[in-house]
Amino acid sequence: MTKVLLIAEHDGKTLNPSTAKALTCAAAIGPTEIAVLGDGADAVASQAAALAGVQKVLQVSRAENASPLAAVLAPQIAALAGDFSHLLAPSTTFGKDVLPRAAALLGVPQVSDIMEVLGERKFRRPIYAGNVIVETEVPAGCLVVGTVRTASFKAADAGGNASVEAATTDADLPTHTRYIKLEAQASERPDLQSAARVVSGGRGVGSAENFEVIYKLADKLGAAVGASRAAVDAGYVPNDMQVGQTGKIIAPDLYFAIGISGAIQHLTGIKDAGTIVAINKDAEAAIFEVADIGLVGDLFSIVPELEQKLG
Ligand SMILES: Cc1cc2nc3c(=O)[nH]c(=O)nc-3n(C[C@H](O)[C@H](O)[C@H](O)COP(=O)(O)OP(=O)(O)OC[C@H]3O[C@@H](n4cnc5c(N)ncnc54)[C@H](O)[C@@H]3O)c2cc1C
Repeated sequence: MTKVLLIAEHDGKTLNPSTAKALTCAAAIGPTEIAVLGDGADAVASQAAALAGVQKVLQVSRAENASPLAAVLAPQIAALAGDFSHLLAPSTTFGKDVLPRAAALLGVPQVSDIMEVLGERKFRRPIYAGNVIVETEVPAGCLVVGTVRTASFKAADAGGNASVEAATTDADLPTHTRYIKLEAQASERPDLQSAARVVSGGRGVGSAENFEVIYKLADKLGAAVGASRAAVDAGYVPNDMQVGQTGKIIAPDLYFAIGISGAIQHLTGIKDAGTIVAINKDAEAAIFEVADIGLVGDLFSIVPELEQKLG
């Protein structure tokens, strides 16, 4: 019998929007329950229960789950999965970290980056930086474990009223990994992976100081800030801002690529973006092949002018 378990992504208080997007994929496969692993996390469980199409929320509460460590969560997820035919998580940093561990513990393969559901066990997914889309089928009798490419699915609506049930597992938790502390930069800007508008800078921006021009435009637009890998590698910005194949896959309505050449590994991160605006001084840059609006010129004159015009 088809029964999907979706692992919720959250910060202990708020359900991450990636969960609602992954739910749309899950619900296309079959009846779906959501597992919320946390320490309490009652508010998260309620938010999950309020999503349309959720059959039930399983709340696994234990002190070790206060900070989500893949090594600690995976054995519990593997223990929960026994009753289900499918185990899914969003293909975010969280899901990419935790789900392969659960799949390994269960001794099954993983289908990564599901972008379309063709059948209960048959999916479309991108490979080679999104240049090739393949159909993958999981053999009958094998638990289907998959991460969901959130950029490919719209978020499930609110309006659900599922029950929340306490669940426990007798999973042995590892002692080799423990949480020490989280060092994160506080930012007032929207979250890169769920923002409707994103302004990204590349190597063309030239330095960490020059990135101020990108932040200013982003703040005018109420946008999140992203970057190419070259900008990250050069130390202009931290690597959690990287957009692309080995960074974040995003699907904003509006994307600015500024001083970015348009390498395929970058483009794979913005495949599902709405309007793409490119600013580059090289009229031959590959980014102009995918851009809806292209401005050829020096970013240090175009971007401040644009920012001023926005008032
Ligand atoms: C396995 C693998 C994974 C990768 N993953 C990623 C990934 O996740 N994300 C990613 O982005 N890349 C990734 N890359 C790297 C990718 O191949 C490119 O090297 C990278 O995207 C280039 O970044 P860039 O466009 O900022 O730099 P460049 O290619 O150096 O381009 C800089 C651009 O800025 C323009 N420019 C310079 N000065 C100005 C100016 N004053 N005004 C306007 N324009 C200006 C130039 O004309 C040029 O087009 C990956 C590569 C590999 C091999």
